[in-house]
Amino acid sequence: MTEYTEEELLPLSALQHLLFCPRQCGLIHVEGLWAENLWTAEGKVMHDRVHGGGGDFRDGVRQIFGVSLRSLSLGLSGKADVVELHPRGGGSARAWTPYPVEFKRGRPKKDLSDRVQLCAQGICLEEMTGTGVPGGALFYGQKRRRIEVAFDAALREATVKAAAELHEIVDSGKTPPPRRGPHCEKCSLVDLCMPDICGGKGRVQSYLKGALRMP
Ligand code: SF4
Repeated sequence: MTEYTEEELLPLSALQHLLFCPRQCGLIHVEGLWAENLWTAEGKVMHDRVHGGGGDFRDGVRQIFGVSLRSLSLGLSGKADVVELHPRGGGSARAWTPYPVEFKRGRPKKDLSDRVQLCAQGICLEEMTGTGVPGGALFYGQKRRRIEVAFDAALREATVKAAAELHEIVDSGKTPPPRRGPHCEKCSLVDLCMPDICGGKGRVQSYLKGALRMP
C-alpha cells in the first residue's frame, strides 16, 4: 500500500466538501476560497465547542474531546469531535476500543458524506493505535439523534476512493466544473462558483438567453 508523507496530508474535512460537490472541494482546497453561510456558521460554532479539548468519563466509557487524527494510508489529518474508549475484556486484560463520534448540525443526509468522514476518522484511529475500529456514531443536532455507523467493507472502500479522488483534484491543481443541482441552494460558495455561467462552452450564452428571455 502506498503511503503519503506528512507534507502531503490533506484536511480530513475536505472529504465532506468532495462528496457534497467536487467543484466546491476544488474552490476551497485548490483555489483557497471560502465563504460562510448560515449552515457553515452553525456547524463551525458546534465544532468549536467540542474541539476545545478535555474529557469525561460516563457509564464506564471514557470520552476525549477534540482528538487530533492522521492517516498516512489515506493521506489525511484532522480532528475528531469526540473519541470514546469502549472497554473490552476484563480484569488485567482490559483494553479499550476507540469509537469516533461526530456532531452534525442538521439531520441525517441521504448521501455518504457524513459516514465517509466518520469512517476516515476510524481508519486514522486504527493506524494511530494499532487497534481495530469497527464503528462509530453520528450525532445530529436537529434530530438530537445518535446513529451508529458500522465501518463495513463497502464504506471503507468508498472512503479510500474519496481520499484518492481528493488527492487527485488537489495534485491536478484544477477545479472541477460546476454541477448545477439542488445542492447549490445550500452551498456557501454559490456566488464564487457561478454555476450558471462557468464550466463549458455555451453556458454563458444560455444563461444570458434565460436571463434576458431571448428566443
Ligand atoms: S454552487 Fe453548486 S456547483 Fe458550485 S460549488 Fe456549490 S454546489 Fe458545487
